[in-house]
Formats: sequence, C-alpha cells, structure tokens
Amino acid sequence: MALQGDFQEHLSTLGRLGVEAFPVKDEEGISKVNALVIPGGESTTMGILLTRWGLREIIRERAREGMPILGTCAGMVLLAKQVENIEQPLLGLMNITVRRNAFGRQRDSFECELDIKGLEGPPFKAVFIRAPVITVAAPPVEVLAKIDDKIVLAKEGNLLACAFHPELTEDTRIYRLFLGL
Ligand code: GLN
Repeated sequence: MALQGDFQEHLSTLGRLGVEAFPVKDEEGISKVNALVIPGGESTTMGILLTRWGLREIIRERAREGMPILGTCAGMVLLAKQVENIEQPLLGLMNITVRRNAFGRQRDSFECELDIKGLEGPPFKAVFIRAPVITVAAPPVEVLAKIDDKIVLAKEGNLLACAFHPELTEDTRIYRLFLGL
C-alpha cells in the first residue's frame, strides 16, 4: 500500500524474493493484488487517507475473503481493532489492542535479537522505530514474538502484524512467513 510511508523498501525486498510487487493506492490497485503489505509510516495519516480515498471498505472486504496482509509498524496499528488512548481511523481487522510509540520517541529506536515462534535458524535481528506494541491479543490471535510482556509479532489467520521493520534488514524470513500465507 503506497499511500504514505516506506513502501519502497518493501517493494525492493519483495523484488529480491522474486515476487511481482507494485505500489497500490486506489481501489483498482487493491482489487488486483492477491496479497497486501501495509508499510511503516504514520498510522494517523494513512488511516485518514484510507478513509478519504474510499479504500477502507475494499481492503476490509478482501481481507475477510482471505487476502493475506502484512502490516509493519504503522501498518500493524491500522490492522488493530483498537488503539490505546486515541481515536483514529483503523482497518480494525485483528483482535488486538495496540499502544503507539510504546518504547518512547524517535531517539528510543533500537535493534534487538528476537526469538520468533515457528522461525527456523538464529534469532531475528529486529529494527524498532517509534514502534507500537500489542498490549491485548484475544483469540484467535496467535502470539509469535514478545519483548518482555510486549507482543511484537502476531498472526490471525491471513493477517500478520509486525511491530518492527523487516524491510530494513537482509533477513527475509518474515516475508517467507507472509508469502506462505
Ligand atoms: N509511531 C508510528 C505510528 O503509530 C509508527 C512508526 C513507524 O511506522 N515507524 O503511526
């Protein structure tokens, strides 16, 4: 989804994986893809644009029909049913509550080694930039990674919510997980 944010980085990673990927920002685009990445950026801005450009309903409909969606960082916020302490337009597709900027401000961005359920090999080097976290995950959401009590990767059926930025590191295992959906 190319309304705003770092969609270019996602496009290049998908390209490297041999996936035919292109930016979409209107109804026609959304109806053509068979999977969607919602990038990091500003969830408030993206939510407003989604609503203004009439994309919210078609994305919700396609998701309900089974289209896989990977939401990273701000994209994860948009997938949530609820955001703590703030009213903003959301897609509201996953049974999760998120807290924005849960680790602090821009200068509190960091990298860490993350153990991810179901991912083979060494820990995943995850990049967090003003990252949100999931504070409540209700069934049928499956928690795949946590930092202390903060959920940073979760899956609900065809939907994958990721608090960090897999598009900014070389490790493509999160994309493989997504493409497997
Ligand atoms: N804090 C931003 C938001 O909630 C997300 C930051 C990011 O996507 N890197 O919209």
